[in-house]
Amino acid sequence: MIIPKEAKLTSEQLKEVTKIVEEYNCRIQPIEGHHRSIYAVLGEERETIMINRILGLDYVDRFDAIDSPFKLMDVKSELAHHKISIGGNIVGESPFIIAGQCTIDPKNPNLFLETAHAVKEAGAKAIRGGVWKPRTMPYSFQGDDSSMQILLDAKAATGLPVDTEVMDEHQLKLAVEAGVDVLQVGARNALNYSLLKQIGEMTADKKIAVLLKRSIGMGPVNEFIAASEYIAAAGNPDVLLCPRGTSPTMDGYRNHPDECITPLLKEKTWAPVIVDPSHSVGRAKYVPSAAMAAMAYGADGVIIETHCQPSKGIGDDPKQSITPEVLTKLISDINSIWEIRSHYKQAAVIA
Ligand code: PEP
Ligand code: MN
Repeated sequence: MIIPKEAKLTSEQLKEVTKIVEEYNCRIQPIEGHHRSIYAVLGEERETIMINRILGLDYVDRFDAIDSPFKLMDVKSELAHHKISIGGNIVGESPFIIAGQCTIDPKNPNLFLETAHAVKEAGAKAIRGGVWKPRTMPYSFQGDDSSMQILLDAKAATGLPVDTEVMDEHQLKLAVEAGVDVLQVGARNALNYSLLKQIGEMTADKKIAVLLKRSIGMGPVNEFIAASEYIAAAGNPDVLLCPRGTSPTMDGYRNHPDECITPLLKEKTWAPVIVDPSHSVGRAKYVPSAAMAAMAYGADGVIIETHCQPSKGIGDDPKQSITPEVLTKLISDINSIWEIRSHYKQAAVIA
C-alpha cells in the first residue's frame, strides 16, 4: 500500500508507480478516503526491489506491506483509520441503526412510507426496504423494479439514507443510478465473488456503502473478512460486516444466532460490524434480546426488520418485523448498552 506525501497522486505520478508495480505483476487500486487517497498494491506486494524503487520516489511518504491475507481490511492496514460515513453519520461513533421493512410491497407504497417515518421517529439512522428479494421458492414474490421509486420517495420524505439488497448486475446498476446509499449483499450471495467484485468496481468513489451479510453456511471468520476484501480490492472499502445467523439452525430459531462472532471480527478487521438479529432468530418476539446481545458483544449497530403493521407485510415482515413502538424502546436500550460498554473498553486499555 502506497501512502503519498500529498492527499493524492497526480495522474503522472500514478502512471509512474503503475508502471513500476506492473513489472512485478502487481496492479494499483486507488482507494479514496475522506481526507486522502491511498494506493493498494495488489499482487505479491512484498517484493523488496519493487518496494525500494517506490520508496525512492520523492512524492511517496511510506510503503506499508502488512503480513496478512487481508491487505485492506486487516486491523493493521493503513485503512484502519478510514471512516465510513452514511447520511452524515460516521459508523462507529454512535449506534448505527438501520430499520424498515423486509420487503417493499409495490401495491402498498403508503405502508412503506408510514414505516419509514416511524423508524426515523424511533431514532433509526437509515431505512431498509427490499426492492428485490431472494426467495427460497421461485413462486414467492420476488420483488419488483417499481419499488425502487417507493424507496426513493421514503428517502426524500425522511432525509434518511436507504439500504436495499442487490443480487445481479441489472439490480446493481439500477440501485447505483438511483442513488441508494447502502447496497446489501445477502447471505445467499455473500460468497459470489464475481458479484462482490462488480459491486466494488461500480461503487468505487461513489460514497455508497456495502452491507455484506455472513453466508448461511457457517464459514470461518477469515472467509467472511476475505469476502469483504474482494469489495475493497475492487475499489470500495466502505464495507459493513453483517452476521445474520447461520445454518444449521438452533432449534426454535430461524438460524443459529452468531452475534457472538463480533469480538472475533473486531480483533482481525477494522470493518464496522452491523448485526442482523431479525434473520438470525426469525421471530419478532426474540429480536430485542438478540439485538441487545449484539450490542453487548461490541457491534457498531444493528439492522432490524420493522413494520408499522407487520400483519399487513409480505416476505419476512409478518413473522419477524418488530413494530416502531418496540424499536423506540430498543434504540433507547441500545444507547444505554453503548454507554455501559465504554467501561469495559477502559478496563481493557488499563489491563
Ligand atoms: C433480508 O435482509 O431481507 C434478507 C433476505 O437477508 P439475508 O440475505 O440475510 O437472508
Ligand atoms: Mn427479510
